Amino acid sequence: MATALEPTTFAVPEVRQTQMLIGGKWQDAASGKTFATVNPATEEIIAEVAEGDAADIDLAAQAARAAFESGPWATMDARDRGKLMTKLANLIEDNFDELAALESLDNGKPISDARAADLPLAIDCLHYYAGWADKIHGDTIPIRGDYFCYTRREPLGVCGQIIPWNFPMLMAAWKWGPALAAGCTIVMKPAEQTPLTCLRMGELAMEAGFPPGVINVVPGYGPTAGAAMVKHPGVDKIAFTGEHRTAQIIMADAAQTLKRLTFELGGKSPNIVFADADLDAAIAGAEFGLFFNQGQCCCAGSRLFVEESVHEEFVERIVERASSRVLGNPFDAKTTQGPQVDQDQFEKILGYIEKGKEQGAACVTGGNRFGDKGYFVEPTIFTGVTDDMAIATDEIFGPVMNILSFKDFDEVVERANNTQFGLAAAVWTRDVQKAHRIANSVRAGTVWVNCYDVFDAAAPFGGFKMSGMGRELGEAALANYTESKTVTMSLG
Ligand code: ADP
Repeated sequence: MATALEPTTFAVPEVRQTQMLIGGKWQDAASGKTFATVNPATEEIIAEVAEGDAADIDLAAQAARAAFESGPWATMDARDRGKLMTKLANLIEDNFDELAALESLDNGKPISDARAADLPLAIDCLHYYAGWADKIHGDTIPIRGDYFCYTRREPLGVCGQIIPWNFPMLMAAWKWGPALAAGCTIVMKPAEQTPLTCLRMGELAMEAGFPPGVINVVPGYGPTAGAAMVKHPGVDKIAFTGEHRTAQIIMADAAQTLKRLTFELGGKSPNIVFADADLDAAIAGAEFGLFFNQGQCCCAGSRLFVEESVHEEFVERIVERASSRVLGNPFDAKTTQGPQVDQDQFEKILGYIEKGKEQGAACVTGGNRFGDKGYFVEPTIFTGVTDDMAIATDEIFGPVMNILSFKDFDEVVERANNTQFGLAAAVWTRDVQKAHRIANSVRAGTVWVNCYDVFDAAAPFGGFKMSGMGRELGEAALANYTESKTVTMSLG
């Protein structure tokens, strides 16, 4: 959290690492190719980064396999694995200022958000899973007959991890945490838009003393490096966060090798405000739940259902809040909204805004590009949105709030569930029974009551329906990184 003692404008960090990490060594792509990573606030190139493809993925998978099967990681005591993870978390903390600035530079998010959310949550996640490393164990099972039966939970193997660009460091921490605690090895592909903090985390992992090959980082594009990882016979599992359409491609590509798959995908999360809610809190929560991170959150409250009797007041007040958001230089501590991550996202969002207008929704604030440099989009609010409009059905992933009015409880539950997605939901009410009934009825992996976007490394997160498969965070995520082995021994 920015304090009075902090500068109002932060320094732009030096980019220290642009090569890929394979088997403990930093190297160029086998092809020698690089790609540009762009500052979304200025549209200028920050750095050229090694562009991995199938050849590099193959080398990384081999290094990860070697580290998994032999070498110090394979025989390391679980508690020592945990110690290494703690060391990495501490090193990230030691380099907090640099990493927060690097995240802001590469992604465009306000540095105050990176400092208040991304960094602390990533550090906390690694500490949390460090604590699990020596607490993963099987059961003894009383089977029939004269036998001793028990289960072991063994590390799953070489894990391919493919992450998006909206929370680059945090997504890396969510994936490294349970994999390392379980004793797996990793080949990670950061998103092509935001490779820099993940590479820096790789450097810090080497500094912490992770053995070569335990963590490999190969930047590159999805259809080349990503697809090669999914198809590689030496990779045991893919953990993917991104769009559901990409997950469909990954599922098909993984069929040949029957890889274990976990997915954390998109959403169109209902945020339900009843008339009996604390409206001050609901309005603040609705703003945060949608506009945080420029609307680039898979769990964004992008279908805002407001009970008819408070609709008018709610709209008036949320418009006031949205239009007072501070857009501009992400390195200025006063900025609350940065640019979208790249030109594609920027154009996609403006396209949805046009569609919303065409289909008859009322754009009551925003609706345009902000400024003439960088991928900034004005905080935008639509009212009069109906369930069938594109802005109400599709994930926009931008600062576009859609307000839908409702009359009663049963109606809003049915409409909230009328989506292919099921990642998150929220309800605002002072009525405890209503809150519980919503929590039980909405088909979503997370339900927030009188709050939004409350995350903790200990609380599982993931989607129903087309929002995902499996859960990240908490004890639940460990199941994604272990295989259970049943051992039955005759006592006769
Ligand atoms: P977004 O549209 O938000 O960028 P994507 O699902 O396209 O979401 O990207 C998320 C991650 O998936 C990125 O790291 C991207 O490079 C990767 N990716 C994209 N296409 C593929 C693919 N065919 N196979 C594997 N990974 C992919």
